[in-house]
Amino acid sequence: MEPKTTADVITVLREHGLRMTPQRRAIVAEIMRTQGHISPTALARRVQGEMPGVNASTIYRTLTTLEEVGVLAHAHLEGGAEYHRAAEAGHVHLTCSNCGSEDDLSIDEANAMIELIERHHGFQPDLTHFAISGLCADCAKELTATTH
Ligand SMILES: [Zn+2]
Ligand SMILES: [Zn+2]
Ligand SMILES: [Zn+2]
Repeated sequence: MEPKTTADVITVLREHGLRMTPQRRAIVAEIMRTQGHISPTALARRVQGEMPGVNASTIYRTLTTLEEVGVLAHAHLEGGAEYHRAAEAGHVHLTCSNCGSEDDLSIDEANAMIELIERHHGFQPDLTHFAISGLCADCAKELTATTH
């Protein structure tokens, strides 16, 4: 079952033998409040704003542990690795190398590309793990306009 609340996640961590300190509870609560992508540095800033003295390394270690127990999954975006709820990780990231904007492609939309790659020696791509970089529509328009 997918842990949905802070209490659920704390139960999962306890089952994996982790001692639940007040710091770790605050970290988990902040993660569960975050919608969409969870940037480790932004998370550290928010947790430390609420509970000064929490070590950044404790925060990063908690993220790693939450990934090991299947609550979170990471993806590599333009600005580094970010986390999602594992259940929300099934999409392909498109990041603009010019302005840094991010867009998503659903697995359904990416299926034609996945099948194309699979036909090549049966390779099974995981397109969700690394972002595809390129130019967003606005930047593409702007950059082609200035080069002509
Ligand atoms: Zn994402
Ligand atoms: Zn990775
Ligand atoms: Zn752009």
